[in-house]
Amino acid sequence: RNMSIPTTMKAIVVEKTGGPEVLELKTAHPVPTPQEGQLLVKNSISGVNFIDTYFRTGLYASPKPEILGREGAGTVQAIGPNTSGFKVGDRVAWLATQGYAEYTAAPANKAVKIPDGLSDEDVMASFLSGLTVLSFIKETYPVQKGEWVLVHAAAGGAGFLMTQILKTIGAKVIGTAGGPEKCALVKSLGADVVIDYRSEEGKDWVKLVKEATGGKGVDVVYDSVGKDTWEGSLEAVKRKGTIVWFGNASGPVPPIPLPKLSPKCVKIARPVLFGYIETREEFEFYTNELFSLLSSGQLKTKIHKIYPLEDIAQVHTDLEGRKTTGKSLVKP
Ligand code: NDP
Repeated sequence: RNMSIPTTMKAIVVEKTGGPEVLELKTAHPVPTPQEGQLLVKNSISGVNFIDTYFRTGLYASPKPEILGREGAGTVQAIGPNTSGFKVGDRVAWLATQGYAEYTAAPANKAVKIPDGLSDEDVMASFLSGLTVLSFIKETYPVQKGEWVLVHAAAGGAGFLMTQILKTIGAKVIGTAGGPEKCALVKSLGADVVIDYRSEEGKDWVKLVKEATGGKGVDVVYDSVGKDTWEGSLEAVKRKGTIVWFGNASGPVPPIPLPKLSPKCVKIARPVLFGYIETREEFEFYTNELFSLLSSGQLKTKIHKIYPLEDIAQVHTDLEGRKTTGKSLVKP
């Protein structure tokens, strides 16, 4: 072991499922030793994603105790045996688990060097969320220029990036968001129609979507809100349209009786990012695409706030309380 690597670190450990209070700061957690295929990364910044709240509450099952956090960026400090492609000192971003910590033993096959000119913060503000958006609009439903797309929670971490990328493709975007400030932000990204689905008028967002599309409905809905929007999404999609359900911000979509899809010949999908980046080739395809969009300035990131790791319970409270726009990050 390199003498400059300490033996203990700060980490946020969840012993049992529950509210934000189960996120416990440990100040002397053991620093992991990288195993075969792993890099030991000292995280300069880690991303917080809505999925972290699902593992915290138990909506998604995972063994406890657990260090949450599915992505980080920082510097490689040590390399596990028989692990190639990286050297100590490389600046990398990674996707795995255990990001809420000063150090993470991350799989080298889900790590990538950050190009010069991009900051760790820029990359973390768009890494898991950006790869999700890029793969879902290329593979789950290949969005074409001129198509109408409904994006729920368009001011959120994923939604902020999705709106921009859809506009670069030339799609016509209807974004929903809660409150006038979030709506102004979505509008500033070039969305064609913005609906405040928490306002009196916007509560009937299905009707507004129909009006905007000449009565037809949208070609595709990207719905990560789930429980509160799934029925409306089915109404707002056009005949032969597609609904991509990919999250549970308001709770999960209940089991849907398949005959509900028949009247309009609707297609539905329920993708996860990891299904599209399983191989190294796939992972590099999307990371290259993301880095080139960031480097060229075509994709802007928005950081809601960089919180100290100690404030992680507040980050979860803010995310679940719909108080954030763009991406929330923690500094270990
Ligand atoms: P966001 O920053 O988008 O936060 C979630 C947003 O959802 C809120 O800001 C809020 O925006 C909206 N929302 C609507 N109803 C509720 C509610 N009842 N409680 C809380 N929020 C609500 O989070 P992320 O960018 O991290 O993730 C966005 C979604 O995408 C999540 O559902 C996540 O699970 C999903 N996702 C799925 C992936 C996959 O692989 N399947 C990968 C990445 C993300 P508003 O106030 O405007 O309504």
